[in-house]
Amino acid sequence: MSILVVGSVAFDTVRTPFGEGREVLGGSATHFAVSASFWTPVRLVAVVGEDFTDEHREPLRLRSVDLAGLATAKGRTFRWAGEYGDDLNTARTLDTQLNVFAEFRPEIPHGWHDTPLLFLANIDPELQWEVLEKVHGAKLVAADTMNYWIASKPAALEKLLTRVDLFLVNDAEIRQLTGERNLVRAAESLLAKGPAAVVVKRGEHGVVVFDRNGAFALPAYPLRVVKDPTGAGDAFAGGFLGYLSSRGLDGERDLRRAAVVGSVMASYQVEDFSLDRVLKLTEPEIRERYEDFSRLTRFDPLP
Ligand code: AMP
Repeated sequence: MSILVVGSVAFDTVRTPFGEGREVLGGSATHFAVSASFWTPVRLVAVVGEDFTDEHREPLRLRSVDLAGLATAKGRTFRWAGEYGDDLNTARTLDTQLNVFAEFRPEIPHGWHDTPLLFLANIDPELQWEVLEKVHGAKLVAADTMNYWIASKPAALEKLLTRVDLFLVNDAEIRQLTGERNLVRAAESLLAKGPAAVVVKRGEHGVVVFDRNGAFALPAYPLRVVKDPTGAGDAFAGGFLGYLSSRGLDGERDLRRAAVVGSVMASYQVEDFSLDRVLKLTEPEIRERYEDFSRLTRFDPLP
């Protein structure tokens, strides 16, 4: 099965305690697409500016991401600048330049309207809605967002939530979105709006998947080196949905495996800047870390 992703393709300038990346390839759709490409064919819908060269496309081509939906518009590519302090869990946004995204009207290439799985990666919720309406054949719709849009377009996000099957957010964002400090109650209030599952990403503390049957929680992989957390959420989503797509979508067992796969992909993402680690990733390395997760979380019943 294929996944269609709409989201940002960006040049990121990122500072962490371990170094700096200047105008490196980033964006929610980029990180998602590369991660998901290890599991399933990926179709990408986004826009870049005239400053986006063939060389910038190369990593996505290398991962066989279908770029028929990547438009080039007059102007500059989306730019984001952020920094992380010693607490690598929270990015502080220093600058957001929408550039070509400000006027973007997404066009869905011929034959993509019935892509079975649709991922609305972090971007303007009005754009997410537009793509949702156009990809009418999707069987499963997942979405992500961030503080920038929760603050600037809350009504559009509320509307989107009513049509989404799976919603992914981080812990700070779900609190901001619901006004509820307790994560369980925050997730319940989102579930009440429509999604069948809410995935709360908690950075180095792992992830909790909430659905109507309860919750599934997983720690983050204990890493010795975390250089740059940028893209962790999207790499998680790429692994999570890429795995579900490769399995034909549903089932409780698969939802749990998907959360592990997402955590594996995110753990590799944060080991280096931009796509530097994930582009070198091999299938045996993915399997090895999946097994590590299994050992990490296994325990016996009480005697
Ligand atoms: P995350 O997986 O949450 O770390 O997402 C990181 C990516 O989000 C970066 O590569 C940025 O280019 C992108 N990004 C940052 N701010 C925005 C925004 N307001 N809209 C869309 N994408 C963004």
